[in-house]
Amino acid sequence: MSRPITAAIDLAALAHNLGVARAHAPHAKVFAVIKANAYGHGLLRAAAAMRDADGFAVVEFDAAMRLRDAGYRQRIVLLEGFFDAREAEAGAARKISGVMHTAEQFAWIAPLQAGARLDVLLKINSGMNRLGFTPDAVRGAYDRLQDLPGVGKITLMTHFADADGAGGVAAQMAVFERAVAGIAAPRSLANSAATLRYPQTHFDWVRPGIMLYGSSPFTERSATELGLQPVMTLTSEIIAVCDLKPGDTVGYGGTFRAERSMRIGVVACGYADGYPRHAPSGTPIRVNDVMTATVGRVSMDMLCADITHLPQAGIGSRVVLWGEGNPVDDVAAAAGTVSYELLCAMSARVPVIERQ
Ligand SMILES: *Cc1c(COP(=O)(O)O)cnc(C)c1O
Repeated sequence: MSRPITAAIDLAALAHNLGVARAHAPHAKVFAVIKANAYGHGLLRAAAAMRDADGFAVVEFDAAMRLRDAGYRQRIVLLEGFFDAREAEAGAARKISGVMHTAEQFAWIAPLQAGARLDVLLKINSGMNRLGFTPDAVRGAYDRLQDLPGVGKITLMTHFADADGAGGVAAQMAVFERAVAGIAAPRSLANSAATLRYPQTHFDWVRPGIMLYGSSPFTERSATELGLQPVMTLTSEIIAVCDLKPGDTVGYGGTFRAERSMRIGVVACGYADGYPRHAPSGTPIRVNDVMTATVGRVSMDMLCADITHLPQAGIGSRVVLWGEGNPVDDVAAAAGTVSYELLCAMSARVPVIERQ
């Protein structure tokens, strides 16, 4: 038998979660965000499961080309835009849209001929202070884009810094509205949090990412409460059992010390599989369909779970690291991070199986 770890990807759950996004924004089109290898789920796998999305959003030029090569005809947008003139030319030839976020990029699309009809998204920096034109530069950028012969449709775009938090979207919406006043063009503003919480941000195109993968963008509302289904379930098995006496420690650094007699299951999953090394003792883990907690430091290939109260558990017991029955959001919270990071980091050595 081979090492028992696997990541099961539930394709029906992906399609379901896309439906949840659509139900929240019934009048908008949806760019399914599948950057970073679809948040670790596999680019073409995720695209196939969400093949009726109105468009796809990626960051990597190569991913956009792979989607076109695979036959997807809908809009494909590069969220960081083109990185040089050659990409702009090659992208235009395949109808790949680019976000235009800085004046440097204009020179790269300026040589495109009138027939190119390159669709672009003009990005406005409404307060995130990462990519985009300052509000007072937007009108000028829009006019310049309109004057370029190779440019087709222009969509106005911004990105929220705190749609999932207490800050909300109002301040950024106000900046955006002032910046685009008088410009009649389609708009794309909402990430998952805004798609779920702020209908006034929906406009023409929403851009959900994390919710498609069955995670909640909010700390105070679970994915289940939002009607989302987990997509990736990372499972493994117990490969050894240790009996601890009071005072015994577990793992590197001896960071966990037993205060009483304990039984510990050694699980074939470690940080080389993408499990976060900084997950402390007490991180939720599911053994034989019962919730328990990790103990000791996560090592490269193994971690340990407390099975003292699970007398039936032993070698071969099924362990859910995250996914069905053990939400990735809870594991991420215990590890002091977000589900995005855990999903994206799921490593290439983990065999993936697809569930319909
Ligand atoms: C990643 C990304 C999204 C999706 O964000 P989620 O929080 O995963 O929904 C939307 N828009 C842009 C510009 C992004 O970079």
